[in-house]
Amino acid sequence: MAAVIAVELKPADLGRSGWDAILPGRAAKASLEHDIDCDYLVVGAGFAGLSAAWRLRQLDAQARIVILEAQQVASGPAGRNSGFMIDLPHALASGSYAGDDSADRRNIRMNRTAIAFAGNIAGECNFPDEAFDPCGKINAAASPVGTAHNSAYARHLEALGEPFELLDADAMQRVCGSDYYQGGLRTPGTAIIQPALYVRCLADAVQGRAHCDLFENSAVQQLARNGERWVAQTARGSVTAARVILAVNGLIESFGFYRHRLMHINLYASMTRALDAGEIAALGGEARFGFTPSDPIGSTLRRIDGSGGTRLVIRNRCTYEASLTLPQNRLDSIAQDHLRTFHARYPMLPRVEMEYCWSGRLCLSRNEVWALGELHPGLYSACCQNGLGTTRGTVAGIVAAEMASGCSGQSLVPDYQPQALPSRLFPEPFMTLGARSVIRFREWQAGREL
Ligand SMILES: Cc1cc2nc3c(=O)[nH]c(=O)nc-3n(C[C@H](O)[C@H](O)[C@H](O)COP(=O)(O)OP(=O)(O)OC[C@H]3O[C@@H](n4cnc5c(N)ncnc54)[C@H](O)[C@@H]3O)c2cc1C
Repeated sequence: MAAVIAVELKPADLGRSGWDAILPGRAAKASLEHDIDCDYLVVGAGFAGLSAAWRLRQLDAQARIVILEAQQVASGPAGRNSGFMIDLPHALASGSYAGDDSADRRNIRMNRTAIAFAGNIAGECNFPDEAFDPCGKINAAASPVGTAHNSAYARHLEALGEPFELLDADAMQRVCGSDYYQGGLRTPGTAIIQPALYVRCLADAVQGRAHCDLFENSAVQQLARNGERWVAQTARGSVTAARVILAVNGLIESFGFYRHRLMHINLYASMTRALDAGEIAALGGEARFGFTPSDPIGSTLRRIDGSGGTRLVIRNRCTYEASLTLPQNRLDSIAQDHLRTFHARYPMLPRVEMEYCWSGRLCLSRNEVWALGELHPGLYSACCQNGLGTTRGTVAGIVAAEMASGCSGQSLVPDYQPQALPSRLFPEPFMTLGARSVIRFREWQAGREL
């Protein structure tokens, strides 16, 4: 046996995700308690891992697939995000959404393939509407800074030939019930998901297919090459597989790959308690909407009215954490920021509190490439989604599955091009100091957009 990789298990994210908490309870699938053999092992049951498993099944209906997930499905970042599956350019690390035209066109085609892939599964497996809703989104602007961002974005969309609609302050108030916003830019191609519900449904859909077993609370602790096969060890069992896809987001570093090349960003979100009938009347606006910020560092705002009642969800603030660990007091202080953000937009709801506040991780590279490809014979990575993990994680899963099964020639995403390695980070402490300074400066610059 050679090439033994000891996996360093990292602490989980902080706070319970409101998305998961408002859903009916779900019993976790069994954890792995024995030794099994399969054709493909997928590690990680987020967007990348579950999409990879679904694509593997499409390509090879007879293959035996095993998925190992360290936590419960939807406990990790896949169940903690804001749920925007965005089709258009959305580079979080840059100061605006407007980029290079030909690269943007390619990215748009890839993102749309991912959204269609998710939509087809949702249709085929009867996901509830709130799990996957292809309703578009609005880039909301609350200040001259935000309005300038939207104007630049509109010019860029025009050059790309992409449809959009500009909304004035009154139209924005009719959507969200608040007079906080000065304008908006609506685009039709985004799907909005209830992330925890979508991931739960996708996990069930994947597992409902023949020859696919998902084990939860089954972290891979060691990975070793044994002849032509890989052996993944968990606390109480092992999986031997010809091919392994690591779909573990930034935690690919804990497997020893892409060290000092990935930036770990924590994002934070809060969800109100369910509003009562009087509060809903005071709120006005549409029953559901999704606002992304016109300034990429600003606040995301959603109103939902699904099985968990009518609630508002805010996402803002981000922090750079090279160690992946987060002090609880960081979350506590950001929870206060969220409350302020909410009451600035909804002063007519002074008694509405946040019921849930949580953090989650995303992974970026300095040169905005995926950490995607064959790492060793039979071992593949589908990681580092550069912010847009719902969509790009889905693309990464599809591409990794096609590579692993030798079917790249019939790719669903022909626009995908082999990636350069993620660029090396600057040495510490300069990397952390630099990243934190840039974030703080952009947050300060964002003003009312935050
Ligand atoms: C608050 C917030 C808001 C966000 N909003 C958006 C948004 O609106 N749109 C968007 O596109 N993205 C958004 N994101 C980012 C998005 O959630 C992530 O990019 C996405 O979840 C990445 O998907 P993934 O499948 O690559 O990884 P993950 O979702 O992180 O899944 C990886 C899985 O691997 C498992 N794992 C790790 N190590 C092991 C191991 N050793 N053994 C077994 N399993 C392991 C983890 O438990 C995890 O479940 C947001 C993130 C946050 C935190």
